[in-house]
Amino acid sequence: MEDIAQIARKLGKSSRSGDGWKCLCPAHDDHNPSLSITKSESGHILVYCHAGCTQDAVIAEVQRRRLWRDDGDERSLTRDKGRLVRNMDLIMPVPANAPAPMFNDTKLGTPSHVWEYKDADGHTLGFIRRFESNNGKTFRPLTCWQTKDGTLTWRPAGFIIPRPLYGLNLLADRIDEPVIITEGEKTADAAAKLLPNYVAISWPNGAKSVTGADWSPMSGRDVFIWPDADTEGEKSALEVARQCLKHGAASVKILQIESASQ
Ligand SMILES: [Zn+2]
Repeated sequence: MEDIAQIARKLGKSSRSGDGWKCLCPAHDDHNPSLSITKSESGHILVYCHAGCTQDAVIAEVQRRRLWRDDGDERSLTRDKGRLVRNMDLIMPVPANAPAPMFNDTKLGTPSHVWEYKDADGHTLGFIRRFESNNGKTFRPLTCWQTKDGTLTWRPAGFIIPRPLYGLNLLADRIDEPVIITEGEKTADAAAKLLPNYVAISWPNGAKSVTGADWSPMSGRDVFIWPDADTEGEKSALEVARQCLKHGAASVKILQIESASQ
């Protein structure tokens, strides 16, 4: 823990926050500490700027200031919680010459469902797979990575923050239609059938990862948020609303769904 404490101290106005530290973000003109620095279970340092700087921008600046020992493992700073792919780069969209994705998981078997994330042009960004087991449902991402020698390979690793929204292609195709945001890809697919006049989208990694998504495509859109009917869902709906407004949505409404309709 000592090393992240030191980085936070050097960046300024540092204080303890949860499992990690808060301090000034080096990538923007920060006066209120906006940067969270934490360490994942696997020991990797994670940075997140609540003012919206990309992880890459923060890391570039932290690197430029030489705030940690250079052990040749810079990559570990850029990767998501426990989902590090060492010495490889996430490639999005997936290039045409990439091998075909293998959706089966060695331990979990065949997925019960696979959701494809596409960019605005309809190119594949990656997949989220759902597996059923005795312990209930489990989700595993699948993304395309490139090794230093140029080899493309699929890994069960997540998107890097800021993560893409689910439904970017639909947003681009239906630019004038209102947007409905639901929690989870499955719910977005259901909402799309139920409400064909809305562009139904979601964000990756669930209720706690709202701020990890790139909400810039909400600029200029009329947005309706359909919260999950639980406390966590209401909290995340509020955060989605904040993100949409921050990124220039034309209007944002949170739907109040009667519990009788559940
Ligand atoms: Zn920042």
